[in-house]
Amino acid sequence: MSAYQKLSEWLERAMAFQTAMVLFEWDNETLAPEEAGAYTARMQGALSAAYQEIMVSDEVKQLLEQCKEEALSEVERAIVREAEEERLQLVCIPPEEYREFQELVSASTRIWAKARREQDFESFAPTLEKLIACQKRFAGYRAKDGQKLYDVMLDTYEKGFTMEKLDGFFDLLKQELVPFLKQIKESPVQMEDGFLSGDYPEDRQRELAEYLAEYVGFDFRKGVMAVSAHPFTTNLHNHDVRITTHYSDRVDSSLFSVIHEAGHGIYEMGVPDELTQTLVGQGASMGMHESQSRFFENIIGRKEAFWVPLYGKMQELFPEQLGNVSREAFVKAINKVTPGLIRTEADELTYSLHVLVRYELEKQLIEEDLDVRELPKLWAEKYEEYLGVRPEHEAEGVLQDIHWSQGSFGYFPSYALGSAFGAQMYASMEKKLNCSQLLEDGRISVIREYLREHIHRYGKLKTSRELLMNMTGEDFNPRYYVDYLKEKYGKLYQVQA
Ligand code: ZN
Repeated sequence: MSAYQKLSEWLERAMAFQTAMVLFEWDNETLAPEEAGAYTARMQGALSAAYQEIMVSDEVKQLLEQCKEEALSEVERAIVREAEEERLQLVCIPPEEYREFQELVSASTRIWAKARREQDFESFAPTLEKLIACQKRFAGYRAKDGQKLYDVMLDTYEKGFTMEKLDGFFDLLKQELVPFLKQIKESPVQMEDGFLSGDYPEDRQRELAEYLAEYVGFDFRKGVMAVSAHPFTTNLHNHDVRITTHYSDRVDSSLFSVIHEAGHGIYEMGVPDELTQTLVGQGASMGMHESQSRFFENIIGRKEAFWVPLYGKMQELFPEQLGNVSREAFVKAINKVTPGLIRTEADELTYSLHVLVRYELEKQLIEEDLDVRELPKLWAEKYEEYLGVRPEHEAEGVLQDIHWSQGSFGYFPSYALGSAFGAQMYASMEKKLNCSQLLEDGRISVIREYLREHIHRYGKLKTSRELLMNMTGEDFNPRYYVDYLKEKYGKLYQVQA
């Protein structure tokens, strides 16, 4: 038996523990009873320990070394590379410190939730301080010679995107989109969207959700949809992909969240059998995943052409609410620009400005030792400057996202990067396919297959920058994103971009 075959057996066991953890997480968010949490957490802890034990074991370490002597295929080499990276991530943090961190996180999400409920940042500040200190220490353990701490964190979510690269990206967004948004706000064109909220029966919304998910290409033979407080996607492997949604009195909120999660799901379903259930058997990165979900949700899903074959179905499902609303009016409504305070409710144009605020603050927190007590004030000032709105209390300001309470720093930029990746892909796709015509004809499958061919089928074999290069012939170029937004919204709001 070769070293690689022996390694595969170890990794297969590690993947089994990993898959069980994913299943518990899914269950916690969807079906598990309220009191299950603390008890199930002990099982999850044991599974997580078993997974780590394998990955950091001497046997795996030696096998990884021996694999370097063997002639491996491209896929095998990628799996060895991922296993080595995963092992290094796990071994460089002393187990005692890691356990303390896990305990801190499980307490801190509760402290954060309470602080948010009570609009009281002060009560969360000491915990946030500890989380930052922990993550800085961990990043220090992982840093390669001279690497900046925030760069180490960014690399966890998006390889090859350092502060240097992201500064260029976010500066461009700031220079171009902030003044453009001011122009839009002053435009005499107004979008009427009152009809999107009201009495939209939940069973009809569910019918629509299932119809749309299937329409864009979510395969219900390999996937399920459930309800959760915050929509998300997870997968056990490429034949078991799970999405959730939520229903509210705003029909567009649920319908676009379904298209978004279906976009994530389609990505996972497009990973080939050869890769699934291995360390390279899922999407390439956080940003690449967001690029797929936001591509379906915004770039495709908010186009008039997308609704040509679908709007009749909408009217059929909601005759009282939409019977007298033309398709044109509907499409305008779903593209209304409303600068607001909450990132998850942001429209397509202003979304990345919410991320800009977080990026700038994270950078200060990690690289410039910003005092966390300054956060609420800086947050409010940046929102005022970039979006023209100011939070009245901390729950709609600095306390709105769960990420920091989970110890995740460096995650936010991938949301904005995803949107920009998607725009770059769309620009190159348009040279080969007539997307609008395909959508009008109800042939969205051609677009989906194109993405599968160029992105999905590679799983984690390539980085996001390599995938972009392969598909578009160009390294990441944020100009496409800015141009896309300015052209689309310039036209809609009749302002000179
Ligand atoms: Zn997403």
